[in-house]
Amino acid sequence: MGRIAYVNGQFVRHGEAVVHIEDRGYQLADAVYEVWALFDGKLADAEGHFARLERSLSELRIPMPMSRAALTIVLREAVRRNRISEGLLYLQVGRGVAPRGHAFPDQPVPPAVVITVSAVDRATSEAKAAKGVKVITTPENRWGRCDIKTVGLLPNALAKQAAKERGAAEAWFVDDLGFVTEGASSNAWIIDADGVLRTRDTNANILRGVTRRTLLDVLRDEGMKVEERPFTPAEAAAAKEAFITGAGSLVLPVVAVDDTPIGNGEVGPVAMKLRRLYIERARATAV
Ligand code: PLP
Repeated sequence: MGRIAYVNGQFVRHGEAVVHIEDRGYQLADAVYEVWALFDGKLADAEGHFARLERSLSELRIPMPMSRAALTIVLREAVRRNRISEGLLYLQVGRGVAPRGHAFPDQPVPPAVVITVSAVDRATSEAKAAKGVKVITTPENRWGRCDIKTVGLLPNALAKQAAKERGAAEAWFVDDLGFVTEGASSNAWIIDADGVLRTRDTNANILRGVTRRTLLDVLRDEGMKVEERPFTPAEAAAAKEAFITGAGSLVLPVVAVDDTPIGNGEVGPVAMKLRRLYIERARATAV
């Protein structure tokens, strides 16, 4: 059975799924998205992603395309039709289709909704985590509203490509003051020389990562010391460990920043433990 996508009210074969050429998401990046990790065919961190979706849409004055309850049913149906147990669900909601123009359409149009589901091979992901990944740093060049999860991802795409060309899995943006903001598709963390877990605070221009939020809860329950405080690439290089969080990466150990090994250049025990704890919690609370 092939993959199935959802496009504006209909389930269609993935390869035949299309949107209109005047979809504002396509022409103006006038759309937001969310990505849920799927564990046992269920949505991980469901509440956090729904809450952020509603906030992103409200910041852009795009209405929710349907109630949260109805959307949950559609998302679950997309997972069921794809028969995927371990994977990722991508939801995009845009302002809709209208003759091209920058301002919103005079007459409101229905929001455009696309859902795709893809499988993840957990054995491959675990092998990647056990090896750790490298990150590069790159100057922050994104707009001032990175708290809204929009599909305007060109700086992120360019940063990720630069990382790939240098054998790294992620790029960390560095702001004008020399502090890491976040990754191109993840939040950035270190365990500093004093053993304190550090990640950027959400007053900064970053996405309020749902995985980050859940991990903070895990850390609190574990009684671990955390500070939502910026760090520099030099502090990352001098850190005991580092890792990234996101629906795709979960908790992924980082072993080098700009080719400088972190710690002994191997995956650290704390990052691996936090990966296990996060996955346990996400799996247990998935709906
Ligand atoms: N930061 C950026 C720029 C992202 O694109 C993402 C995820 O796609 C994250 C952080 C992590 O967010 P979450 O944990 O909600 O997936």
